[in-house]
Amino acid sequence: MTKEDDKSIPVRVALRCRPLVAKEINEGCQTCLTFVPGEPQVVVGTEKAFTYDYVFDPTTEQEEVFNSAVSPLLCGLFQGYHATVLAYGQTGSGKTFSMGGTYTSAQENEPTVGVIPRVVRMIFHEREKHTDCEISLTVSYLEIYNEDILDLLCPSVSKDKPSTINIREDPKEGIKIVGLTERQVMSAHEMVGCLELGNSARTVGSTAMNAASSRSHAIFTITLEQRRGADKSDNVVSKLHLVDLAGSERQKKTKAEGDRLKEGISINRGLLSLGNVISALGDESKKGTGFVPYRDSKLTRLLQDSLGGNSHTLMIACISPADSNIEETINTLRYADRAR
Ligand code: ADP
Ligand code: MG
Repeated sequence: MTKEDDKSIPVRVALRCRPLVAKEINEGCQTCLTFVPGEPQVVVGTEKAFTYDYVFDPTTEQEEVFNSAVSPLLCGLFQGYHATVLAYGQTGSGKTFSMGGTYTSAQENEPTVGVIPRVVRMIFHEREKHTDCEISLTVSYLEIYNEDILDLLCPSVSKDKPSTINIREDPKEGIKIVGLTERQVMSAHEMVGCLELGNSARTVGSTAMNAASSRSHAIFTITLEQRRGADKSDNVVSKLHLVDLAGSERQKKTKAEGDRLKEGISINRGLLSLGNVISALGDESKKGTGFVPYRDSKLTRLLQDSLGGNSHTLMIACISPADSNIEETINTLRYADRAR
């Protein structure tokens, strides 16, 4: 792969449908989707077909999702490209499962382990092969809740206090998040330890805040710094963001009051501007011009230098196969379609 300096790299979309869960089976839900064997295509009901870069049917294992859709981004990362993986979909569609947001070290060798722990494993494996340069790795884990940035690696900071973490744009280094824990890690074990720590902070927060996790975006970021040359002055920094987005379901605005209403609006803002950014990027790669509205939300500002341009982006659009979810499923299929 060579760097194409002025052509932007399009967003790839992987559609992932989870199996029916016990609750859906007990309620007598039926599957409303069919998958075309050998084609990256899904058919809703009997008519409408959607095609993506990848389509993973309910039998697809975590390993296959990782190997086919995610691992190519890691090759780019070692070549100096930024990359972003976004899990999109309604609450309960499999975003957290896919990303590995419930990972604990007890699951280390389970086949159900999601994207993030697999990424960590592969990055450290790759690092072994790059003996020609010095590589350092740092990690951060944050949550965007109500347009506030919360540090998941510093869980003592309460959700009740206003956040002091801010986004700055550095002309040389790009997007900087001031006040956020950035932990340098020496091993895969240490890095998944950070994932586990942040995951538990997220879970604790969500019981206290009434399933706040379905209304927040969680971003696990790995920064890879490669230093080459005799004096190690030839320096390449690439970032990988692994994002478990807020639930895409429409907020029931009429019922929401006070703080709840504010939550609904700001989360929609992140997903809304993400959709606008991604479709503007699509136009850009087709026509070579266009304004990309990154500044409309914390989410898109934070991901600004890792979406579009020379960055690789994968959206994993997660859906339920149940007929009871068909409306939200069609919304997700359309949002994901717009991303291509
Ligand atoms: P979300 O994060 O989108 O709200 P979850 O990841 O929590 O959804 O998934 C909802 C439920 O479905 C969980 O119990 C999860 O374990 C299960 N699930 C999701 N995807 C799969 C899958 N591909 N295979 C098996 N179970 C899954
Ligand atoms: Mg979740």
